[in-house]
Amino acid sequence: MRTEHALTAATDAATDWHRATPSSAGQQPVEEIFGCDVFDQRAMRERLPKQTYKAFLRTIEEGERLDHNVADVVASVMKDWAVERGATHFTHWFQPLTGSTAEKHDAMLIPAGDGNIVTQFSGTDLVQGEPDASSFPSGGLRATFEARGYTAWDPSSPAFIIRGRNHATLCIPTAFVSWTGEALDKKTPLLRSIDALSVHAMRILKLFGTDQGVGRVNTTLGTEQEYFLVDRHLYYARPDLVTCERTLFGAKPPKGQELDDHYFGSIPQRVIAFMAEVEHELYRLGVPIKTRHNEVAPGQYEIAPIFEDTNVACDHQMLVMETLRRVAPRFGLQAILHEKPFAEVNGSGKHNNWSMSTDTGVNLLDPRDETHTNLQFLTFLCAVIRAVDLHADLLRASIASAANDHRLGANEAPPAIISIFLGDMLTDIVEQLEKGTPKRTLKGGAIDLGARTLPQIPRHSGDRNRTSPFAFTGNKFEFRAVGSTASVSWPNTIMNTIVAESLDYIATELETATTRKQRKESLETACKRLLKDLVKQHKRVIFNGDGYSQEWHEEAEKRGLPNLINSEQAYRVFGTKKAKDIFKKYKVLKPAELESRKHIFYEKYTKQLQIESEQMVLIGRQYILPAALRHQARLAESVSATEAAGVDASAQRSALVDFASVADAFRGALDRLDETDDYQDEDPIRHAKYIVDKIIPLMAECRRLGDQLEVHVAADLWPLPSYREMLFIR
Ligand code: ADP
Ligand code: MG
Repeated sequence: MRTEHALTAATDAATDWHRATPSSAGQQPVEEIFGCDVFDQRAMRERLPKQTYKAFLRTIEEGERLDHNVADVVASVMKDWAVERGATHFTHWFQPLTGSTAEKHDAMLIPAGDGNIVTQFSGTDLVQGEPDASSFPSGGLRATFEARGYTAWDPSSPAFIIRGRNHATLCIPTAFVSWTGEALDKKTPLLRSIDALSVHAMRILKLFGTDQGVGRVNTTLGTEQEYFLVDRHLYYARPDLVTCERTLFGAKPPKGQELDDHYFGSIPQRVIAFMAEVEHELYRLGVPIKTRHNEVAPGQYEIAPIFEDTNVACDHQMLVMETLRRVAPRFGLQAILHEKPFAEVNGSGKHNNWSMSTDTGVNLLDPRDETHTNLQFLTFLCAVIRAVDLHADLLRASIASAANDHRLGANEAPPAIISIFLGDMLTDIVEQLEKGTPKRTLKGGAIDLGARTLPQIPRHSGDRNRTSPFAFTGNKFEFRAVGSTASVSWPNTIMNTIVAESLDYIATELETATTRKQRKESLETACKRLLKDLVKQHKRVIFNGDGYSQEWHEEAEKRGLPNLINSEQAYRVFGTKKAKDIFKKYKVLKPAELESRKHIFYEKYTKQLQIESEQMVLIGRQYILPAALRHQARLAESVSATEAAGVDASAQRSALVDFASVADAFRGALDRLDETDDYQDEDPIRHAKYIVDKIIPLMAECRRLGDQLEVHVAADLWPLPSYREMLFIR
């Protein structure tokens, strides 16, 4: 019984929403309007024989080995379901360490020999695949172990169909591991981290006596995805956007986001048509999209779903990114997900809303009304505070990338210093905890709008703070430093692991204090004493002020908070003993698995910057310099012609001299960059350091001079679409 109930609460969140029969008459379930391309729990329940369904539940719930016969039956109904929907192929869909998703399609259609065709998809096809793993990054894991890689079905994330004009493919979410079981993907450690958190969260619930009927604790996740849309013709005319997804050159337009007139503004026609199509496709896939709006920068938008269990939410997040990219061309648009496609206007992030929830649906970070009396909530809260303070470096490293380096600390995104915003109400309670027993919960009250026809609206007990990288927002934490192209699996793996460690610590302390023979304490006494200590030790990470300000940087340094200013520094964290220990202890990553990830991160970083710098040199030489020289020749002709006509041309001549000197400097900078970026180093850390010290400053110099040329060269000679065009043509 418990199994059935728990499963419905834990894994059906999205599909419940998708297939729910609405309460008021006249409405239809989402699936009836948009169709259903997701093989969810309900489809399983409806189609599988009862015994098979129960056996399947035991696999999901209790980790029982999936029987071959059961797998065969599940595969058979899944195939029928997919074929009814026009699917001809299937694929194991997984998330290798490239950061995107991977798929290799196989037909389910087999010639029967008598001229007919039969469909075939067996339990083995469903459960296990063996894609050629040798071309995926393994960070040395395969050198140490084996070349083979396997994909293994993740039955807790529903299969779905991806379709196009003339194709439909059944996609089966899978984990990807090496022959000896090392994780070669992002899903495997994520699942392990959720298991770790569940074990220790359950110990806390047991102490508080709130574990009845609870099978496990999951983490929940809601991600807000920011992105840009650029007209496709303009996109193709920008080699930098095509190759790097960001502009390497581009002078600031006269109007950017200064007037704040884009944010929440009315959505342009072409854009909203695009958004609607994206949402329809995602509804079909069971992704519960809720919010759409214009973002801060011109040409920037946001899409956000309702939160789900983290494993499913991470898969869905990948689908959101893929769908944005896939649908945009139908509207003559290109979806740009890069963290910083355009200088001088805001970049894109992905707010990661995170909480912990029992499989019976209780949010463990819900403070409730009289928060000061809610010791269980305060315990979970302090566990998060402790985790973030102790492992701020890991959290920072979890979101590091070459692209995110352009945002973090650049006065728009949260700073690279990790701190927690708690708001007035919780800060007040935490301060009370430090002194002893909390006695009150601050209330928000109501706001009187001053006009008779307007209702009084309740005021939240704390204002929003947009400058904090890690903010408590009502009943969840919002980690805002995640980059817009990132897979959210990795930051959540780290989040879950560090919180698991704190919950373990707290549970052990409380279990000991409440059971020891001498000086045995009541749970309440032990808990208050422990939380008081925790607040004392870790309150330095709490900061409610302006995270963008210079004062905060100074203050944070005084408090001893780490400030890892770029990826090169941040990735080092994965090499520390502290990091290795925590991942090993909670069985999330073995040291070799962690080391391989560190290696891959550095490699990706250096390769990405190498591509960018080479692309920069090419654009400089093939587009900008030729245009500049043509312009210079025009200026020179005009000087001669003016002088030949007997008119004073001294002002023109000096403009020509100035222009030529910028063009020369630009050529020189490109040459220097070209010489420097050939650097190779077998040590990826040293290579990254070289990039930070030598290549990035040279790239900045090339860009400065290139942009200076742009604002002087005649428009009819300039070969690249301008920022004004890319950001404002909608
Ligand atoms: P904002 O006000 O930050 O722009 P929204 O309220 O639009 O954000 O979105 C916040 C996100 O947080 C949504 O995806 C929402 O579903 C999610 N969320 C709400 N409650 C939880 C929770 N308990 N756990 C995880 N995510 C949650
Ligand atoms: Mg948000």
